[in-house]
Amino acid sequence: MSDILTCAHCGARNRVQTVPDAQVPVCARCGQPLPWLVTGTDATFTQDIRASVPVIVDFWAPWCGPCRVIAPALEALAQERAGTLKIVKVNVDDHPQAPGLHAVQGIPTLLVFQNGEVAGRQVGAVGLPELRAWLDRSVPAN
Ligand SMILES: [Zn+2]
Repeated sequence: MSDILTCAHCGARNRVQTVPDAQVPVCARCGQPLPWLVTGTDATFTQDIRASVPVIVDFWAPWCGPCRVIAPALEALAQERAGTLKIVKVNVDDHPQAPGLHAVQGIPTLLVFQNGEVAGRQVGAVGLPELRAWLDRSVPAN
């Protein structure tokens, strides 16, 4: 599945399909790393969480108020950490298997994966500063 990633530097819209291992998506126009925020699915979840950078998975649903609160903070974090972070949004109504596998009980739940392993879990809505602190606590190497 492909996602459109908008460059934070030049505003170019980039259609991104698969990103090779050990790479991050870069803007086709200016070469800067793109804010890497994509839509995940049950069918692609194993690949979705594979990246050379930490991957935050946001388990959410359209009817969930707190999920809508956290969404802009995640988008801002994707911009701030372009090149060092991937964010995958999984709609739990459409894709119940991935949250089931990871014992997600309520939404929003954020998991951060590093090298395919869960390195941190955040349940409930938080703002950008808390999100940033949680990420840095969970994956201190980054
Ligand atoms: Zn650009």
